[in-house]
Amino acid sequence: MDFKSKIRVVEDFPVKGISFKDITTLLQDGEAYAAAIKEMAAMVETLEFDVVVGPEARGFLTGAPLSILTKTGFVPIRKPGKLPYDTIQHAYELEYGTDTLEIHADAIQEGMKVLVVDDLLATGGTSKAVCELIEKLGGEVAGLAFLIELDFLGGRALLDGYNVKSLVHYN
Ligand code: 5GP
Repeated sequence: MDFKSKIRVVEDFPVKGISFKDITTLLQDGEAYAAAIKEMAAMVETLEFDVVVGPEARGFLTGAPLSILTKTGFVPIRKPGKLPYDTIQHAYELEYGTDTLEIHADAIQEGMKVLVVDDLLATGGTSKAVCELIEKLGGEVAGLAFLIELDFLGGRALLDGYNVKSLVHYN
């Protein structure tokens, strides 16, 4: 399927100069959404993982259905103060300032194999932070799977050493 034709590109969002890849148009097309998740599952077929981890919010929309299809569990990663039980945090640098992500401290056990899933790989900062959280808990990152990769931002280089797979590329 031509997934690019299902993704709406919105210019100057959220700020001037950014060409935002809007996946809501793909999500609302049942055939396209199902096909995208199925192809992402095929993409990670050779990877061995016990659980899928996805960051809010669009990592839920891609990671959760992928976890159902692969019959693995799903672990959410959230912004601070949203998860109800004991958490660990990881702060990471943004272009301006920092951001923090949280995971339940008991969500990943020592040696667990984890697949990281998000809608889009840009600079790689978010995914790198997700990997740090998993590794802090003793988990092993089996790979990372994205619906979209913005090749020109070089996120793959920041994730050097990890197995990175993306369905749709923009360059
Ligand atoms: P990174 O941390 O790799 O720079 O940015 C990736 C994160 O930002 C992902 O969680 C993704 O949801 C969000 N993001 C950044 N740019 C876009 C975009 O153009 N479209 C979508 N759908 N998400 C984006």
